[in-house]
Amino acid sequence: MRATKVGQDTFLSQVVKLVEEAQGSKVPIQEFADRVVSYFVPAVLGLAFFALALWFVAPDLAKGASVWAQPFLPWVDSDLGVATLAISAFVSTLVIACPCALGLATPTALMVGSGMGAENGVLIRHGTALQTLKDLDTIVFDKTGTITKGKPEVTDIVPAKGHTEEEVLRLAASVEVGSEHPLGEAILRKAEEENLELYKAKEFDAVTGKGVKAKISLFPERLVLVGNRKLMEEEKVDFESIEDDVKRLEEEAKTAMLVANNGKIVGTVAVADTLKEDSVQAIRELERMGLKTTMLTGDNRRTAEAIAKKVGITRVLAEVLPDQKVKEIQGLQKNDETVAMVGDGINDAPALTAANVGIAIGTGTDIAIESADVTLVRGDLSSVVTALKLSRKTFSKIKQNLFWAFFYNAATIPLAMLGLAHPVLAEIAMATSSVTVVTNANLLRRTRIRPSYQKKEKRGSSV
Ligand SMILES: [Mg+2]
Repeated sequence: MRATKVGQDTFLSQVVKLVEEAQGSKVPIQEFADRVVSYFVPAVLGLAFFALALWFVAPDLAKGASVWAQPFLPWVDSDLGVATLAISAFVSTLVIACPCALGLATPTALMVGSGMGAENGVLIRHGTALQTLKDLDTIVFDKTGTITKGKPEVTDIVPAKGHTEEEVLRLAASVEVGSEHPLGEAILRKAEEENLELYKAKEFDAVTGKGVKAKISLFPERLVLVGNRKLMEEEKVDFESIEDDVKRLEEEAKTAMLVANNGKIVGTVAVADTLKEDSVQAIRELERMGLKTTMLTGDNRRTAEAIAKKVGITRVLAEVLPDQKVKEIQGLQKNDETVAMVGDGINDAPALTAANVGIAIGTGTDIAIESADVTLVRGDLSSVVTALKLSRKTFSKIKQNLFWAFFYNAATIPLAMLGLAHPVLAEIAMATSSVTVVTNANLLRRTRIRPSYQKKEKRGSSV
C-alpha cells in the first residue's frame, strides 16, 4: 500500500479549508449592511442626545408625547421625574439601537447556507458566488466529463445474420485483451460485466488508426479482426450485410467497430461516451427554473449535437478550441447575461475563471477545482440544481434577516426616546433581536435544496 496524499493535501482537509474560507468571506449584500450601519451609528447617537435635550429643554412636550403613548404601554410608570425619564430615554435609545442584529443578519445565514452546501456536496468558496448564483441567466456546460461520464462504454452490439451478441462480444474482447486504447478497454469492461470467458489469443497486432487483429486458438486457429471500415477493406472482409447498422450507429455519434472471424463479418460493437444518469433531469429542472442552458465543447458538431439532443440542450457551441472557450463566455457576458460555467478539465479552467460563477466537477482535474468558485463533490449535474436552490434560499434568508433587523430598530427607537422603555427592558429587547436573527438563519436548515426529482434528502452523508 502507498499513501498518495497525507494531512493537509487530502481531499477532506481541502474540503474543510474551502468551507472555512466561505464562512469567513463576505457576501456583497453585507457591504450594503455595513454602509447602512456607518450612517446608522451616528444617527442613533444624534437621536439619543436629541431625546436627552428634549426632555430637559421641553419636558412638557416630551411628557405630553409620552402620556399620549401611555395607554398603549400600560406597564410604563409615567409618574417618574423628568430627570430620571431623560436619562432613561438616553440610555434606552443607545441600548435598544445597538445594531448587532444588523451585523449578524448576513454572516449567520451565510454560515448556515455554506454548511448545508457542504453537507449536500456543494462546496462554495466565496460568499460572492452564493449571491451571484441566484442571479444567473445562463449556465454553460462542458460536454465530456461534465454532461457525460467522460469514459466510453459499449452501447450496442449488433450481430450479423447467423451470429449472436455474445459471440460478437466474446471475439472482440478476446482480441482486445491488454489493450490500452479507451475503446478496447470499454469492450473488455463490457465482457467482464457479462461474465464472458475469453478465448486465448496470440500474435496481437495493432494497426494504427484502423484497429487490432490477433489469432485465437480455437481449432482450427482463427484470425479475428476488430476495427473500422478501412481495416475490413484492407483484409478484404465483406461487411455489406451490416453496413446499414454501422451507418445508423455512426449517425447516433457512436464509434462502430466491426468484428470479423476468419474473413467473415460477425457483427459490430458500438462504443460511445454516455450521459451521467441524472444529466437529463438536471437540465430539465434548470430550464424549468428559468435558466438558459448551453453546451460548449471542442468536439465536432455532429457528436455535440447528438448529445445535446439527448440531454435537452438547445444551444450548442461546438468545435470551440480551448483558448476560445473564454471568448464565448465573454461574448455572452457582453449580451448582459450573468453566466455560470460548469466544467471538469484543464481546458475549462480559463472559462471557469472568466464566468461570473465557475463551477467545477469534483471528480475532474485539480486545476479546474482551483479556478472555480464552487466545487461539486459528487460530480453530478443534480448538484448544480442544489447549488442554485441553496443560493436562492440563503439569499432570501439574508434579506429576511436584514428586514427584521431594520424593522426592529425603526419600531423601537421612538419608544425608547419617549422614555417608554426601561433600560432593562431595552437590554432584553436588544438581545431578543439578535436571538431572532440567529434563530431565523437556522430555520434555513428546514428548507429543501435537493432537486425535486430526488426523493430522499440525505443529510451528512455526502462528504
Ligand atoms: Mg471536460
